[in-house]
Amino acid sequence: DKKKTLNFGAGPAKLPQTVLLEAQKELLDYNGIGISVLEMSHRSSDFTKIMNTTENLLRDLLNIPENYKVMFLQGGGSGQFSAVPLNLIGLKEDRCADYLVTGTWSAKAAKEAEKYGKVNIIHPKLDSYTKIPDPSSWTLNPSASYVYYCCNETVHGVEFNFIPDTKDVILVSDMSSNFLSRPIDVSKFGLIFAGAQKNVGCAGVTVVIVREDLLGKALKECPVVLDYQVQAGNNSLYNTPPCFSIYIMGLVLEWIKNNGGTAAMERLNKEKSGMIYDIIDGSNGFYVCPVDVKCRSRMNVPFRIGKQEGDEALEKLFLDGASKLGMISLKGHRSVGGIRASLYNAVTVEDARVLAEYMRTFLKEHQ
Ligand code: PMP
Repeated sequence: DKKKTLNFGAGPAKLPQTVLLEAQKELLDYNGIGISVLEMSHRSSDFTKIMNTTENLLRDLLNIPENYKVMFLQGGGSGQFSAVPLNLIGLKEDRCADYLVTGTWSAKAAKEAEKYGKVNIIHPKLDSYTKIPDPSSWTLNPSASYVYYCCNETVHGVEFNFIPDTKDVILVSDMSSNFLSRPIDVSKFGLIFAGAQKNVGCAGVTVVIVREDLLGKALKECPVVLDYQVQAGNNSLYNTPPCFSIYIMGLVLEWIKNNGGTAAMERLNKEKSGMIYDIIDGSNGFYVCPVDVKCRSRMNVPFRIGKQEGDEALEKLFLDGASKLGMISLKGHRSVGGIRASLYNAVTVEDARVLAEYMRTFLKEHQ
């Protein structure tokens, strides 16, 4: 990795250098056929091969059971948290759904679902998105059509390190920002979706993995492009799919496979985030991560500098200094402020070490 710029952005995020080089090499002439993937018909045999290879790699990496469909759709994570209630809230006549709201993204998803049915927020509204209330305090509705949660809240850095037990109720998860960052038992879910632009590619494609028996229950007002039965029935080709983004995702999946799969990603992600959290925790309150230790994200590490609510001048100094050293996109989300280091799969241990070293130096100079 010869690039001097270290990208800690929350998404679209860093891609593996080898993937970019391969895409560059193939940009003008894919596989000797004389045209670019950008110019290829989505119904051509060459593109069909790209789709099939990509799907097979994903099935392999996640051990996706046979009775699950995989789709590559447009509309992003937001498109999918809108599609979920349209497709699934009618699974039971009552049209109720349970939502675990642990941050911005699950809050937005719950708001969207309210348009189509009754939404039960499982635990009392949190004053701040810094923890996941203990499951013993949740009030799950046994007759809900599904339970929804966001596996990693990108803005607040809150990540589930367990799969909620919802008994017989279908479980749905937004894994946009920790997809393929660790192994996951797909069979525990009715549906998983993930935008590609953080861990598995570039913007434009969203992966949807859905259990077959849940198809065909969409509300009649569901737009056809969001209808899972239609999209699954057409192998994601009801309309033109995001071809180039799917191709890039295929390259990234191959890279993950060649680098040891999800188990290896998990090891590296633990190591990278561990380095940063260790410095925060050993800084005597100079760096403050407000998130409960039990649910700290390995993907997005948010922290403030100088005091609990952040010393903005000091934080600016930190960001300016980082930028001079080539470390970019470390600014926290505008809704929370401070710093956020995103450490997705493509961010190397070496990248994280450079950041850790800088944090140590900054601490010494300013504490
Ligand atoms: N869910 C999560 C967890 C996200 O991080 C994001 C984007 N940051 C979204 C959903 C929305 O994705 P999109 O912008 O692709 O609609």
